[in-house]
Amino acid sequence: MSDCLFCKIVSGEIPATIAKDDPEFVAFRDVNPQAPTHVLAIPKRHVRSLNDLDDDGLAGRLLRFAKGVAEGEGLAENGYRLVVNTNSDGGQTVWHLHVHILGGRAMAWPPG
Ligand code: 5GP
Ligand code: ZN
Repeated sequence: MSDCLFCKIVSGEIPATIAKDDPEFVAFRDVNPQAPTHVLAIPKRHVRSLNDLDDDGLAGRLLRFAKGVAEGEGLAENGYRLVVNTNSDGGQTVWHLHVHILGGRAMAWPPG
């Protein structure tokens, strides 16, 4: 989608620090990290939000890709948090489905 920030990261039009890349997904470091490790995993295909996800296979592969990011970042043993903010109450600000992978410190609960 031409006016989507994350599609522009996929195409290379906007630079990002890539953490993991495969044919279907890419993960890159969040520009405003909320934890020592904060990576965003996205499908390369534009999906506006989790509400628009209609592909069970993609959902499963995205979670598996995010798990691989966490392993690659050395987070698996101590643990990490995955977050998918959806629409306004969820705090979504970028309209391309993304999974936040947060780690490197203990996470609080409940979230803000
Ligand atoms: P949301 O609030 O939609 O769940 O998350 C969007 C995330 O994208 C935020 O954590 C924000 O810091 C990050 N972000 C926004 N613009 C950019 C950018 O241009 N590059 C990168 N790497 N991250 C961005
Ligand atoms: Zn997009």
